[in-house]
Amino acid sequence: MPHDLPKAYDPTAIEDHWAEYWVREKLFAQPTPSSATETAQRRGASSGPDAQSSFTILLPPPNVTGNLHMGHMFEHTESDILMRWRRMCGDRVLWVPGTDHAGIATQMLVERQLVSEGSSRQQMGREAFVERVWKWRQHYGGNILNQMKRLGASVDWQREYFTMDERLSVAVREAFVRLHEQGLIYRGAYIVNWCPRCQTAISDLEVVYDEHKGHLWEIRYSVLDDLGQDSGETITVATTRPETMLGDTAVAIHPEDERYLHLHGRKLHLPLTEREIPIVLDEWVSREFGTGAVKVTPAHDPNDFAIGQRHDLPSINVMDATGLINAEGGAYAGLDRYAARKKIVADLEAQGLLAGIKDHTHNVGHCDRCKTVVEPRLSTQWFIKIQPLADKAIAAVKPDAEGNKAIRIVPEQYEKVYLEWMSNIHDWCISRQLWWGHRIPAWHCASCRKVTVARVDPAACSHCGSERITQETDVLDTWFSSGLLPVSVFGWPNFGKANTPGAPDPSHLGTWDGSENRADFDAFYPTSLLVTGFDILFFWVARMIMFGCWFSADVPLPDGSKRELKNSVPFREVYIHALVRDANREKMSKTKGNVVDPIEIVKQYGTDAVRFTLASMASPGTDIAFNIARTEGYRAFANKIWNAARFLFQNVDRAAEIGIFVDPAALGAMPEAADDAPLEARWIVAELHSTAAKVNESLANYRFDDAANTIYQFFWGSFCDWYLEIVKLRLDFSEEQAGESASQRDRRFNDTKAALTTFVSVFETSLRLLSPFMPFITEEIWNALYDGNPPSKSIALTSYPQSRYMGDKKTIRLNHAYDHAVLEMGVIQSVITSLRAERKDRGVPEKEVVSATVYCSEQDGSLTAGYIAHDDDRKLCNSLARVELSLKMENPPTAVKIRTEIGFSVAIPYEAPERTIDVAAERERLTKDIAKYEKGLANAERQLGNPSFLAKAPAHVVEGLKKQAAETRLLLEKARRELDSLPPE
Ligand SMILES: [Zn+2]
Ligand SMILES: [Zn+2]
Repeated sequence: MPHDLPKAYDPTAIEDHWAEYWVREKLFAQPTPSSATETAQRRGASSGPDAQSSFTILLPPPNVTGNLHMGHMFEHTESDILMRWRRMCGDRVLWVPGTDHAGIATQMLVERQLVSEGSSRQQMGREAFVERVWKWRQHYGGNILNQMKRLGASVDWQREYFTMDERLSVAVREAFVRLHEQGLIYRGAYIVNWCPRCQTAISDLEVVYDEHKGHLWEIRYSVLDDLGQDSGETITVATTRPETMLGDTAVAIHPEDERYLHLHGRKLHLPLTEREIPIVLDEWVSREFGTGAVKVTPAHDPNDFAIGQRHDLPSINVMDATGLINAEGGAYAGLDRYAARKKIVADLEAQGLLAGIKDHTHNVGHCDRCKTVVEPRLSTQWFIKIQPLADKAIAAVKPDAEGNKAIRIVPEQYEKVYLEWMSNIHDWCISRQLWWGHRIPAWHCASCRKVTVARVDPAACSHCGSERITQETDVLDTWFSSGLLPVSVFGWPNFGKANTPGAPDPSHLGTWDGSENRADFDAFYPTSLLVTGFDILFFWVARMIMFGCWFSADVPLPDGSKRELKNSVPFREVYIHALVRDANREKMSKTKGNVVDPIEIVKQYGTDAVRFTLASMASPGTDIAFNIARTEGYRAFANKIWNAARFLFQNVDRAAEIGIFVDPAALGAMPEAADDAPLEARWIVAELHSTAAKVNESLANYRFDDAANTIYQFFWGSFCDWYLEIVKLRLDFSEEQAGESASQRDRRFNDTKAALTTFVSVFETSLRLLSPFMPFITEEIWNALYDGNPPSKSIALTSYPQSRYMGDKKTIRLNHAYDHAVLEMGVIQSVITSLRAERKDRGVPEKEVVSATVYCSEQDGSLTAGYIAHDDDRKLCNSLARVELSLKMENPPTAVKIRTEIGFSVAIPYEAPERTIDVAAERERLTKDIAKYEKGLANAERQLGNPSFLAKAPAHVVEGLKKQAAETRLLLEKARRELDSLPPE
């Protein structure tokens, strides 16, 4: 007997309870497989009936500093639906969670704290600072994972990692040393994007460009004669950053530019300095642009750097790490780059060397983290030679001769984007001038100037034996460690070592114990799927593909054979999800103030309703316009389910009172209906089968929207609106009826029991169908249904409804009996719907039973007529439409008012009695309405007359208000007219 559900559905109470239960019971933990057989089975290698394939995904690790936003909630909802669905389909599901140490973001956050305490990282020193970050992480880090726990994500919390954990740090070190041994890591001077605030190099991908209205300053450089004296002639160059001229080492012209042929081989005086610089000839220079002469600053511009390389020019870096002009800037040393710009322009003008200033709109790069203007700057960095890693990563995604792909990217349009980016990829700058991160395992020797790279911290230089060595101060780019995750979370390279969360013990770093327990790796690598956003396709996805293919290639397959490309990829499929935008399809942003906080919405409507909203709008390649009205609608859906459950429980209880019990064996499987079962039973089971088939197919194709909408239509439309109304009629619990024999009573009870059994089993199956989408409410009701004795620990561990009617080509074809039930029920529904509409039109009071006629003409009505003539079906129409139905096989007589449908017409001969009006009450009602409309209209008009409101409110709000005012005006006029036309009392 089910236990009572509270009258009102309160998501907060049930969700907190189950979220805590799922974590506490470790329901979604996937332990390391114990034997080789099991491993083989997980990989789907065995075809036996017990074989299970594993389905593994990695959670894109959020920054340890992060909080959950709508994008996360969307990503997690899609992933969780897939995980719960796969788990219920019988796969061994593993979803691995973790957080990223997020070098720049975390360091910046802790640095800000220090500033507010009047301290700084420089004052603290490196060691104390890193310790402080670890402390910060312990107290505040990983909030987002706690939010995920509350939202019920079915991840394996036993496997939670942090990218700075010891085990993962070992993998980072091994990867670096190995790439270095393979000659794929080098150190060199290069132009990098430098953030003067963060004081580190940042990746191209971390630079955001904004259009900026700036200037183009035109400067005259004097041409020197043979004696090194001013010849009187000048060349004009133009620049958007005049301060960089302090580092100019040449002016370049096109070799065939006729304007300058006579200046080949000449030198120029660099204004504001004592330096002479050459004129160089370079075909890269465009003759059409400006004067055709360009200043060359190799240390501060990537194109100039390339010219410098070609002409062997010196590179003069004129700025320090914080953006101040350094000693190379002579008189300008110590000035901030913008102060220097001002002074330089003024000085040039004073010397008559400023040829002009033009307005110039151009793109300026900003640091994605702190929004400071990025400075292209020459510095010494560590790089990964991108080939042959990139080629392998291209081969992994490109279709082979047979059209097979080792990695499939969905939607397919992103495959091209990925391949294009990968074929233009440059060497990867992996060093960052930060303190928080994996410190590069390289030691510089003060004696021989060579570098020692080692797995274990060395005591001496490996080249000359000198002990005067110091470790590199740079750390690795955060994406270096996250790129390794697919291999490192499953134990590479130190297979068999348990995870030790927390700060790495330096003495353990890089110690290889040679153990070869690869159970996790064998079972779970390659992972099955990656669900992620487009924004990290290059940052993260591409790097995982490069590293996964490279480092796993040496790890043999479980059977000892060599791992080919198709098994060394980090995942077999990448699903790129869409963006969540606001209701007006605008990107959510803090500046626009249109950010929707998922936690707030969840508090208001419950997690289930928010998940369902996201799922119902999620299809590949389509952005979501998140609309709170839909969440309200799905909250109502949850209510509907709750009320259906309460109705069912009441009936189960009443049945129990007269000794009717549903056989537990009827639950947990896919219901079927016998050919002689009543129509509604055959029909609802048929509908359930086609719903299950469609949902499974939709999920296999990432059509979350189709899956959610199919379930919604079934549950609300078919089950609640129709089936519940009909089954009410079948559940007859009266102890005895007048003149009934014992055997008649038994038969009646048997019918009731059969109806109740179908009701319960269809409902229970619907809960399982819905569970991946709305895990909380289904868990609560499912547990209540079994009254504390469920067959397993959670509905999430039961089986997902599968229909045997899914054809080979995924077409859904029910059997004949079910097809017939669907057809028959369709006819009955249209007759009832038509009768109900006609009743309403004719003003028949709700409760009154009236006589009605269905007319079927000879030619088109035989099908309808056949069903109506059938006793049971006619009775159904009578009950649900409150009519006494008769059938006439003729065209309706012309005098009769009819409602015409396809295949039949209905007539209800009913005259509504004259209504007597209570004039006083009517007057009072209208007066109240008029007052209400007047107030509403005045409000709207006041807002619409307020210029500052009009300036600030979004267009759709203003439009809505105008529409609302117009409607209110109409209602007001109508009410006034009605009041005037009332007869005197
Ligand atoms: Zn910055
Ligand atoms: Zn040395």
